[in-house]
Amino acid sequence: MPTLFERIISGEIPSDRVYEDERCVVFRDIAPQAPTHVLVVPRKPVPSLEGDLDASLAGHLLMVARHVAHLEGLSAGYRVVINCGSDGGQTVDHLHVHVLGGRTLTWPPG
Ligand code: AMP
Repeated sequence: MPTLFERIISGEIPSDRVYEDERCVVFRDIAPQAPTHVLVVPRKPVPSLEGDLDASLAGHLLMVARHVAHLEGLSAGYRVVINCGSDGGQTVDHLHVHVLGGRTLTWPPG
């Protein structure tokens, strides 16, 4: 069964895409937790940060997160989050990097 994010990447499920390249796709989160909330998702369906991920792809996802933060005009800062596993709050089993910004974010998370 393809993951939800594979179905979004293939276009079967619509999304508001803000960036894409040969290794990843970035689209707006359907339930944004900040004025800007996008997800950087590898085309390769790695289940989580614990999955089959190499340093090159991991680094690329982070560089894209930074690039998209710049595209979104988050000059005052932003937060990059990877939820991993049930205790980490991961709900979609396809690795994704959250980029949140556009308001002052509090710490610690819940
Ligand atoms: P996580 O809880 O870290 O696994 O994050 C999954 C994220 O996917 C949540 O922030 C959801 O709001 C988001 N999400 C779920 N379905 C969709 C969808 N169809 N389009 C965009 N974002 C989605």
